[in-house]
Amino acid sequence: MPLLVMKFGGTSVADLTRIKNAAQKVKREVERGYDVIVIVSAMSGKTNELVGWVEETSPLFDAREYDAIVSSGENVTAGLMALTLQEMDVPARSWQGWQVPINTTDTHSSARFTSIERANIDTKFSEGFKVAVVAGFQGLSPEGRITTLGRGGSDTTAVAFSAAFQAERCDIYTDVDGIYTTDPRISKKARKLDRIAFEEMLELASLGAKVLQTRSVELAMRFKVRLRVLSSFEDTDENSGTLVCDEEEIMESKVVSGVAYSRDEAKLTLVTVEDRPGIAAAIFGPLAQAGINVDMIVQNISELQGADKTRAVTDMTFSCPTSQVARARKALEEAAAQGHIKYDTLVEDNDVAKVSVVGIGMRSHTGVAAKMFSALSAENVNIKVISTSEIKISVLIDRKYMELAVQALHDAFELDKVS
Ligand code: ADP
Ligand code: ASP
Ligand code: MG
Repeated sequence: MPLLVMKFGGTSVADLTRIKNAAQKVKREVERGYDVIVIVSAMSGKTNELVGWVEETSPLFDAREYDAIVSSGENVTAGLMALTLQEMDVPARSWQGWQVPINTTDTHSSARFTSIERANIDTKFSEGFKVAVVAGFQGLSPEGRITTLGRGGSDTTAVAFSAAFQAERCDIYTDVDGIYTTDPRISKKARKLDRIAFEEMLELASLGAKVLQTRSVELAMRFKVRLRVLSSFEDTDENSGTLVCDEEEIMESKVVSGVAYSRDEAKLTLVTVEDRPGIAAAIFGPLAQAGINVDMIVQNISELQGADKTRAVTDMTFSCPTSQVARARKALEEAAAQGHIKYDTLVEDNDVAKVSVVGIGMRSHTGVAAKMFSALSAENVNIKVISTSEIKISVLIDRKYMELAVQALHDAFELDKVS
């Protein structure tokens, strides 16, 4: 039997009516002759509520309990989706991660797949079940504890199942009808793309475009999964949505393909750090151990201080998600208390955002950075930190200018126009 994976995100299963609507789409594919693995998210808002309860109960929570709690939203929708399909005479049953089982690492709250065991689901398909409804976002650690895959992780569950079961396609149903040049909620001029290259989507996702979880794009690229994003609210066919595919399959040739943003960034500066060989390792080692996702790093030019001008000092700035600032501060204070690092003060700026332009065309074009900076300067947006890679340029700016910056860059690179 040909097999499809269909993933429904939070807004697509937000209530019983929407679950019914999603189930209709699944039934249609079954009628076309497919076996279907349905991956469901929690009802929209549910995961946030669960995370809120965890943080209120225990600010520096035990990540194993976080996972036990936060994974539960998906269990409810998986069961409800299976029941809804049964009511439509579609033979279906639900699967929680541990029942499949979906094996992962033990890095709680951001676990990675190690394997998906097919046998149990294959047996059910061979017994006549047409649909396996799998709870997204969750798995099982080697110790037998429940894990979760990081926010937005159901996308990754969908791609991993597509690879494991050699699905014909992985369809990600969501609340927009495809992948746009930027978040359509931020810019009215955002334009839907028919296709986007894996590498560009990978950058856009890792820079904040939450339409797909970064890891899902990585896996799709590695295992050559045909990945598509489309609307769960509209009638759709084989040509709907946006296909994420190899660079060679794309006709459009723009230098910049998209603008991404990440709202919840923080900038931390260690002021007057003693500058000596090994200091960066002494700072970022403990941060890594504390699980901090350090992004941009800037070290200022070294300065000589003290009466005899022999004490070399510098300032070290880095960015990380605002949700990790408390943990980062704790890790740095501990490193200082143990004598591993020495600094005068830690300055925190919690009101920054990151805005990035992405495009594979940047590899062969110059002047992209200059164009980006002049577009921002024309809007009087001050740039605090810059970082670049082969196919992206990111800047850290005051959060209040984020939407303005996204729109200005979308205009500057004429992303509303087809090339
Ligand atoms: P789901 O709950 O279905 O997983 P998400 O909220 O995680 O949905 O992702 C869909 C959202 O991603 C859209 O509503 C949109 O606001 C946002 N988004 C950000 N960047 C983009 C983009 N470039 N194209 C499409 N959507 C985007
Ligand atoms: N429910 C989880 C979240 O909100 C996983 C997902 O929706 O993909 O992050
Ligand atoms: Mg999502």
